[in-house]
Amino acid sequence: MAKQTEAIQVLEKARERTLIELTRLREQLQEEIEPASATDDDSADVAADIYERGKILSLIQNLEGKLHAIEHAIELAHEGRYGICEKCGAVIPQERLDIMPETTLCVKCASEREQGIRRSLLNASYTETTRRRRPFEEEEEEVEEEEEEEDELDYEE
Ligand SMILES: [Zn+2]
Repeated sequence: MAKQTEAIQVLEKARERTLIELTRLREQLQEEIEPASATDDDSADVAADIYERGKILSLIQNLEGKLHAIEHAIELAHEGRYGICEKCGAVIPQERLDIMPETTLCVKCASEREQGIRRSLLNASYTETTRRRRPFEEEEEEVEEEEEEEDELDYEE
């Protein structure tokens, strides 16, 4: 039981840090949005702003997911079930909890779940690829070349 109390302390700290970071990122996002709407920038700046905003947004989404996981782990700790895999009931090694205190799955179950997600993402892109009848790798290379060409043009101007 002492282990659960300790875990709650660790998790509460992680929760606080995540909340601070989220506040910071939301402020940053706000700053990114405001100047763009106030001044009429040229399209390159607007594109850069949109890219920057997208980056911040995805960081926010990641942290929101992490916050959710931390809060869930805190709930489990209050019930005395922290450190035990939610899926298979195996004891999660302390080293894993040290690195990722918010985890509620053992390595095996976590990687199985991740593979499941990846597989469904892959299936989606396979369908896309098959429909267009082009190998995925070839497509990626072409995109890179196009980007390089655009960069060169930018320098010449
Ligand atoms: Zn498990």
